[in-house]
Amino acid sequence: MTFEQLGIIEPILKALQTEGYTNPTPIQLQSIPAVLERRDILGCAQTGTGKTAAFAIPTLQILHGLHADHKAHRNIRSLVLTPTRELAIQINESFASYGRNTGVKHQVIFGGVSQHNQVNALRNGTDILIATPGRLLDLINQGYISLQHIQIFVLDEADRMLDMGFIHDVKKVIKELPEKKQTLFFSATMPPQIAHLANSLLHFPIKVEV
Ligand code: AMP
Repeated sequence: MTFEQLGIIEPILKALQTEGYTNPTPIQLQSIPAVLERRDILGCAQTGTGKTAAFAIPTLQILHGLHADHKAHRNIRSLVLTPTRELAIQINESFASYGRNTGVKHQVIFGGVSQHNQVNALRNGTDILIATPGRLLDLINQGYISLQHIQIFVLDEADRMLDMGFIHDVKKVIKELPEKKQTLFFSATMPPQIAHLANSLLHFPIKVEV
């Protein structure tokens, strides 16, 4: 199976060729078609399986399709929530490389640094926001970010959010999201609190496991 056979559009196929990706990994094979059908995903996957591309490629494709209508006024249409600054930076780089020919804009925010540059960059508008929970809540509370136009919500490494004590912040972020959205939920393990969160958030999810 190739990315082309999964229905990936030309601008993204070209970028994947440049990256040297020839075939989708198992998690990409399972999740890309489901995301493109706008289904919710419950993914049990570790880092290193190609998980990032499994959500980034179809998210870019969906937003590229919507793009023409919204160019004049960019709202954040996809939020990727991830527990650490390192993961946030990596995910942002993945969007940069897979999305380089799409015109879809992405931006990353995380704590531990001044918010000044992040806030300034947000003024230009972005289609995709990659964020850690604490900094995101700070900027929402200061009125710099609205999540009311989110169509695709990615929760990355949900179990690590719990381990790191971020689950309360994650739930606060979820309260800011519109009721109607597509949710892609990834966790390497499913402790009871995470299973409960997944249950409350997901609508008839496709289960993806590697
Ligand atoms: P991740 O699990 O998202 O951290 O990805 C692990 C590594 O696999 C990253 O370095 C990706 O660049 C690489 N990768 C992801 N998908 C593919 C693919 N289909 N073919 C080759 N490498 C890939």
